[in-house]
Amino acid sequence: MLLKGNAVSERIKNGIVNSVKNHWDSDLCIPKLAIIRIGERADDIAYETGILKNCAKTGIKAEVIVVNNNVSTVDFLKTLNKINENKEIHGILVLRPLPEQLDHDTVNRAISLEKDIDCMNPLNMEKVFAGNKSVMPPCTAEAVIALLKHYEIDLPGKKVVIVNRSMVLGKPLAMLFLAENATVTICHSKTKNLFEITRKADIVVTGIGRCKFFGKEYFSKESIVVDAGIDEENGNLCGDVDFEETAEYVSAISPVPGGVGPITSMILLSNVIKAMKLQQGCTGKK
Ligand code: NAP
Repeated sequence: MLLKGNAVSERIKNGIVNSVKNHWDSDLCIPKLAIIRIGERADDIAYETGILKNCAKTGIKAEVIVVNNNVSTVDFLKTLNKINENKEIHGILVLRPLPEQLDHDTVNRAISLEKDIDCMNPLNMEKVFAGNKSVMPPCTAEAVIALLKHYEIDLPGKKVVIVNRSMVLGKPLAMLFLAENATVTICHSKTKNLFEITRKADIVVTGIGRCKFFGKEYFSKESIVVDAGIDEENGNLCGDVDFEETAEYVSAISPVPGGVGPITSMILLSNVIKAMKLQQGCTGKK
C-alpha cells in the first residue's frame, strides 16, 4: 500500500478552508500567522514561500517579519514580544536554524505558549512528554501519526522503531506513539546492527536525511514504513528509503516527495487555528 500524504493534507486543508470561511461568515477575526525570518538564507525563503502559498490557498492571513542576521538576543526578543502581544497574530513560526549569536534557549522560551505552532518552547514540549493532548506537538511528528491514522493503521501494541532522536522529530514522535499505546524504540547514528532492530518492527519511521540509505534489508514483508527524511539527489527531492527496491517488498510505505512533507505543511497552518482557539480576546476583525 502506498501511504500518500497528499490525500491527508487535502483533508486537513479542507478543514482549514471551512474554518476560515466560518470566521468570515460570522464576522469573526481571521487566523493570522507571523513568520519570523532571520537574514536571507535561500532555504528559509523557499520554506517561507511554500507556507505563504498554502496560506493563500486556505485563507489564513500571513505576515513575514525579517530581522537582520546579526541581531542580538535583546533586540530579537523585542521584536518577538511585539508579535507575542499583537492580538491580530495567532501563530508564530521562527525559521531555523537560528544564528549562533542568539541564545537559542532564551528565544525558544520567549515564544508565547499559545502561539507556538511548531512546539519550539520547551514548556510546550514538556507537555508533549507528559501526554497532555491540549498542546500542539512539532508538526512533523504529528504528521507521521496523522498519516498512519488516515490509512487506519492500528497503533496500540505495535512495535515501532524510529530512526531519529532529534527534538523536532524522534523524541516527540516517540511520545505520540506512546500515547497511542505503541511500544517504541528510538535508534540513531550510534545504534549497532540497525537493520536487525528495524526488521523486527511493525512500523519503522526514518528521519536521518540520507538519500536511499535504507534498502530492503532493513525491513520485513510486513513492515509499514514512514519515510520522514528529506535529502536531494541530482537536484531532486529524495527520501531515506530506497523506494524503488523497497516499495514492492514491504506492506506499506510513504513516498518522498508526497508523503510526510505535505501533511507537515498543512498541520502547521491548522495549528494557527488551534492556537487562535487557545487565545482569548481575539480582536483582529476581518
Ligand atoms: P537531525 O537533527 O540531523 O537528526 C537526524 C537524526 O538521524 C539523528 O538522530 C541522527 O543520529 C540520525 N542519523 C543520522 N545518520 C544516521 C545513520 N547512519 N544511522 C542511524 N541514524 C542516523 O535532523 P532533523 O531535524 O531531526 O531532521 C531529520 C530529517 O527529517 C531530515 O532529512 C529533515 O530534512 C527531515 N525533516 C522532514 C520534515 C518533513 O516534513 N517531512 C520536517 C522536518 C525535517 P544522532 O542523533 O546520533 O546524530
